[in-house]
Amino acid sequence: MSKKLRPETIVVSAGRPEVSPDGDINPAISMNSTFHAGGPIGYGRSGNSTWSALEEAISALEGGQTVSFSSGIAATNAVFSLLPRGSVITASKHSYTGTMSLLAGLAESGRAEVRYVDISDTKEVIAALPGTNLLWIESPTNPGMEVADIPTLIKAAKAAGAGVGVDNTFATPLLQKPLELGADISLHSVTKYLAGHSDLIMGSISSNDPALITRLIESRRLSGAIPGPFEAWLALRGIRTLAVRFERAQANAMELAKRLSDHPAIERVRYPGLPTDPHHEMAKSFMKGFGAIVCVEVKGGPDAADKACASSELVTYATSLGGVETLWERRHRWSSEAPTIPYNLVRISVGIESVEDIWADIDQALRKSQA
Ligand SMILES: *Cc1c(COP(=O)(O)O)cnc(C)c1O
Repeated sequence: MSKKLRPETIVVSAGRPEVSPDGDINPAISMNSTFHAGGPIGYGRSGNSTWSALEEAISALEGGQTVSFSSGIAATNAVFSLLPRGSVITASKHSYTGTMSLLAGLAESGRAEVRYVDISDTKEVIAALPGTNLLWIESPTNPGMEVADIPTLIKAAKAAGAGVGVDNTFATPLLQKPLELGADISLHSVTKYLAGHSDLIMGSISSNDPALITRLIESRRLSGAIPGPFEAWLALRGIRTLAVRFERAQANAMELAKRLSDHPAIERVRYPGLPTDPHHEMAKSFMKGFGAIVCVEVKGGPDAADKACASSELVTYATSLGGVETLWERRHRWSSEAPTIPYNLVRISVGIESVEDIWADIDQALRKSQA
C-alpha cells in the first residue's frame, strides 16, 4: 500500500498485526509483566506489544515515532524532566492547569525559569525566545481558546536555538501536525479525543528525533509511568473512529457557537471557527478545522455560570473533554485555573449527539441560570 493514506484511512488501518491465515485482525491485549528471555524487551516496564500497536497508529497520524505514557501529565512531566537544571521554559500563560502546576513547581524549586506569554501574541513570544531552552506551545489554549501562529513560532524558536513542544490535545493531528511544521515534540492527552470515550487515562509523545525518543523510553521505564495494556488497547479501539467522531463533534461545535453568539444569557463566545473570533484568521491560515471545544462567558458572573452547569439534564456536568458525550464546567471551580481566565467562563466539550438535543438542553440550562 502507498504510504500516502489519508488520516480517515490511517485511523482505521494503522497498528494492525501482520496478515497471516487465521491471524488476529486486532492487536492482542498483552497481559504480561515479563517475557521469555533473549528478546529486546525482557520486562513489562520496558515494552509491550499492545503499546507498540497504539504507538504505531499515533505515529502514522503525527509522524515520527511515539512513546505512550500512563497519562497526558506523565508525558508532559517526562518532557520537562529531561531539561537540565536552570533551563528556561517559555510557555503559554493559558495552558492546561496540570501543565501550569508542573511549571510553577519547576520555578518554585529553582529547577527552571518559566516565562509566561500570550501564545497568540507572536511578537511577545518571539521577544521571550532569547535564552529559552524549550518553547511549550498549547494551541488552541485550554480554556482561553487563543490560537498560536505555530508555523512562525516554530521557525523563530529553532532560529533562537530553542526546542519546541506542542500540546496537540485540542487540535488533534486531524487539524495540525506539529512535527511536519518542525516541532521536536507533539504531545497528547490520549485520554481526550484520541481515545474519545471518557473511559481511560493515557498520554503520548511523538518526535522525529530518535535520541529524544530513546531518552523518553528510558524516562518512562525509570519513572514507571507506563500505560496498562488494556488502556492501550481501548485507546487504539477509540482511534478507529477518531475521524468520524471529530467531524461530527466539530460540526456540532460550529453550530452551537453560532447559536450561543445570539443567546441572551451569553456575554462572549470563544471559538476560532466564528468569523468574528479574534483568532479566526490565524486558525484558518494553517489549521484544517477549528475543533470541538467552545468556551462561553455567562451573564451574571460565576454564580449564574455554576447554575447553568448544574441545570443541564443531557449535557454532563463534569471536567475533562474529548469524549463522545457533550460536557461542560465552569473552569474557575478549580483553584489552579489561570487568574486571567474569566470567572464566568464555561468550557463546553461538544460531543457527537444530535445538535438539536444539545442545543435544547444548553438553552434551557442557560435560561435557568438567569432566573
Ligand atoms: C487533559 C489534558 C492534559 C493532561 O492529560 P491527562 O491525560 O489528564 O493526564 C494535558 N494537556 C491538555 C491540553 C489536556 O486537556
